[in-house]
Amino acid sequence: MPEKKISLFTNGTRVSDKVKDELTEMLLESGHIVTTEYKGDSDLIICIGGDGAFLETIHKCDFPSCPTVGINTGHLGFFQEVRPQKLQDFLAAYEKGQYSIQELNTVKCTVTTESGEEFTHVGLNEIAIKGRHSYSVHLFISIGGRPIEKFSGDGILVATSAGSTAYNYSLGGSIVDPRLKLLQVTPIAPMNTSAYRSFTSSILLPSDLSIGIRPERSENRIFILNDGIETGYENVRNIEVSASDEVVNLIRFKNYDFWHKVKDKFLEKN
Ligand code: NAP
Repeated sequence: MPEKKISLFTNGTRVSDKVKDELTEMLLESGHIVTTEYKGDSDLIICIGGDGAFLETIHKCDFPSCPTVGINTGHLGFFQEVRPQKLQDFLAAYEKGQYSIQELNTVKCTVTTESGEEFTHVGLNEIAIKGRHSYSVHLFISIGGRPIEKFSGDGILVATSAGSTAYNYSLGGSIVDPRLKLLQVTPIAPMNTSAYRSFTSSILLPSDLSIGIRPERSENRIFILNDGIETGYENVRNIEVSASDEVVNLIRFKNYDFWHKVKDKFLEKN
């Protein structure tokens, strides 16, 4: 195989750094160029750690278009594919091109402030919209431009299919096969009383519909979390959440099966 430029990232734990040293030696011996940064011209990104480390790498590299693969040194990972004991097999399969690419869709939100300024955030797992501290938040929600509900509760989360097994699942949202391109809107502790009426379950939307979120006038601070990265805004006029054009190209090898991972992570006893 001709030499490849490979960017390596780890979450900095002792185990991950040990795997990184071992892998670096193997890649150099095979004639590849190894770097610990990403400048847009790499052939492959390798991330060593858990799913959290994978998310961090994707954000650090600003949603790279080149293939990415995860070596799992964390808990059972959904993004992380390769076991550290199988580095030799991984390199052989990669060099022979014995893999497929799983395209993971992403979600974005655009925040417009009262002064007309716009800010965009992209998430691989999700975008969550919350209020200040532990106060409830009141949001007018529209779908495809049509008003649907006034939401009251802790917030609203919009998950991608890949993100459905993360925060979304903890909130009672559904697990979605990543081959489906859709957005899942999941309420975070919705209030459902005679005073407030909100959906209490997730809703699934086709990826060409956008969700409009307009905070009630009294909401003076709104927090956006894209994959757990929090940004606070004041005087928000509107938030538009929709599918993003960014795609993460994840390498998968022949034994990969999403539903097997789901079973292992959520149903098997340790
Ligand atoms: P973290 O709070 O340190 O870890 C969150 C956990 O979510 C980790 O165990 C991580 O797996 C797991 N995870 C991340 N993406 C996943 C996915 N697509 N499917 C299944 N599990 C996944 O935060 P972090 O490591 O920076 O990750 C940020 C993510 O945390 C957010 O995108 C959000 O989805 C999630 N989160 C979850 C909750 C909750 O479940 N109540 C609350 C806040 C945030 P690893 O152990 O392999 O890293």
